[in-house]
Amino acid sequence: MTLSQGRHYLAIPGPSVMPDEVLQAMHRPAPNIYEGDLVETTHTIAQDLKWVARTVGHVAMYISNGHGAWEASLANMAQPGEKVLVVANGRFGQGWGEMAREMGIETEVLDFGMSAPADPARIEEALRADTERRIKAVLACHVDTSSSVRNDVPALRAAIDAAGHPALLAIDCIASLACDRYEMDAWGADVTLAASQKGLMTPPGMAFIWFNDRAAGARTRPLSRYWDWAPRANPEYYYQHFGGTAPTHHLFGLRAALDMLKSEGLEQVWTRHETLASAYWAAIETWSQGGPMRINVSERAARSRAITSVHLPDGQGERLRLWCSENLGVTLGIGLGREPREDWFRIGHMGHVNAHMVMGVVGVLEAGLRALGIPHGEGAGDAAAQALAEPAQALSRAAE
Ligand SMILES: *Cc1c(COP(=O)(O)O)cnc(C)c1O
Repeated sequence: MTLSQGRHYLAIPGPSVMPDEVLQAMHRPAPNIYEGDLVETTHTIAQDLKWVARTVGHVAMYISNGHGAWEASLANMAQPGEKVLVVANGRFGQGWGEMAREMGIETEVLDFGMSAPADPARIEEALRADTERRIKAVLACHVDTSSSVRNDVPALRAAIDAAGHPALLAIDCIASLACDRYEMDAWGADVTLAASQKGLMTPPGMAFIWFNDRAAGARTRPLSRYWDWAPRANPEYYYQHFGGTAPTHHLFGLRAALDMLKSEGLEQVWTRHETLASAYWAAIETWSQGGPMRINVSERAARSRAITSVHLPDGQGERLRLWCSENLGVTLGIGLGREPREDWFRIGHMGHVNAHMVMGVVGVLEAGLRALGIPHGEGAGDAAAQALAEPAQALSRAAE
């Protein structure tokens, strides 16, 4: 017998679940890339991408994954021999910094470990020490997907301002855009990065950089013509949006995804993610009471609303993950960037996710804990259900 027959649920932190609307929008013949529907669609996408990031700045689009967005951002923000300040709360922050070094950009890494957000005082101190103003940008992940730590972006901005330093604030929102609240302009980010396959519910293959006028003005000579964000954001000819042929089908998929976000409303999208995340946290905290499972980030405000990293020692995290995937039709994320990796797993809850998917995963994990004889507290399903029922009750009261 197998209990995994039926639609498999890939609950990893990207690629996220693709809505049928997105898949269907992509199922069409190759479009004309010189005029018509595709050109119109691209213009509306650029507008709506600014709406998602809450900015009136510019947006450049790339045929790339998130790593490409890292490289593109660096190519526009710093020259070889200049410096960036890297804020790390896990593998992804470190990775962005490694990429800078390989491009000949000097890095200073502030490592905050893998379970706490950045301490703004240390950032202020590092910037004050840079009396020659060699630091061109502060790089930070809004959410580091390896640890599920969420940084306080306004606090990072305040640290830069307190130091009176001109460095740009560049934020990797690849795992948080359209999941966690993010307000690029109000929070004072100068540069924002995202990719298509997480909160934006579209296949991997597109990346985005938003930049404000300050970042546009700070740019000297871009390190690469292909990564240059200027013609992509303000093209004279359509092909300049992508430095060549457009990612035709991705654009139709992304259009459908943006339509879904717009009809739900951004505030509602954020609240949905927050509520679903709180159901997972309630379940994990209940399991923790009678066994070794622990949620990685203890401080609630510092937790991602799109991904949750969970510790389960002695290799049991990986055992549980594999068991759920092989037997019950749910694949969870690996303990990326962890030592030992087998003691960790991550639950992706970003994008096209609703309450019954979350309750399904909670039930599957409960079954796995029982089947593998891993000690755990009782009542996780009840706790998760309660976390979903409370905001739902409040909403229906408000509607009365
Ligand atoms: C997924 C992710 C990346 C890398 O994106 P790829 O598309 O895999 O290159 C970078 N940063 C963060 C925060 C991510 O979540």
